[in-house]
Amino acid sequence: MRVNIFPVATLRDNYVWIIEHKNEALVIDPGEAAPVIAALNERGLRVKAILLTHRHWDHVDGIPELQKRFPSPIYGPKSTAMPQVTQTLAEGDYLEFWDAEVKFQIWHTPGHTEEHIAYLLTNEHPGSTAIFCGDTLFSAGCGRLLGGTAEQLHTSLERYKRLAAETILYCTHEYTQANLRFAQAVEPSNVFTREYADSVEELRLVDATTLPTTVGKELKINPFLRCDQPEVIKQVEAHTGKTMTSRLQTFTVLRQWKDSF
Ligand SMILES: [Zn+2]
Repeated sequence: MRVNIFPVATLRDNYVWIIEHKNEALVIDPGEAAPVIAALNERGLRVKAILLTHRHWDHVDGIPELQKRFPSPIYGPKSTAMPQVTQTLAEGDYLEFWDAEVKFQIWHTPGHTEEHIAYLLTNEHPGSTAIFCGDTLFSAGCGRLLGGTAEQLHTSLERYKRLAAETILYCTHEYTQANLRFAQAVEPSNVFTREYADSVEELRLVDATTLPTTVGKELKINPFLRCDQPEVIKQVEAHTGKTMTSRLQTFTVLRQWKDSF
């Protein structure tokens, strides 16, 4: 079984990921309806279900308009801030579509927000996993703390780090270029970051997407996954003037530093 997965660019820098199979679509985090409806119509797709990762408007505001055209169940975390969810999901749940041809495992991944969940697509192709990670992780960066704690986000990202290197990360924002400017400030001697910044610049010049990314790539270039690296620790210590005593502390300061970068 092979599904087709493609992004629809919405709003300023969001991506709505679509999983297409048998003329139907799973629509993930529709923050805006019009471009999603246009993409669905162009391919002759109906909406099978909407999958939500978290509460933010730029991930849910397209739902009413989409529901008018294509009424469908809405999956998402259980939260009073997400009344639109019709089927709630929690850590460890499994979710299947098309007679289990597409199967997700649900991870509770708090930090960006408290209720945030991620969808692990466990059978995209043999031996490989993909994860729809919402606003927890971006290429070369991570989500801001908008309701959750640094400790929660650190724990969520540590889980991603343990996935196989070839695991595909479907992030929901085109932040890569700005993130790489910060990553290079944090790790000026990281050669992978420098090379990646060059290829990202070329992609962005022609308005091409830099996503999805992979766990293997992020482990090399994403400073938020590299809080155990001597250069990251050194730069964070130079920035704050404090000695870092744990990976979590380094992560926490790094997140604060990025907020004001
Ligand atoms: Zn968000």
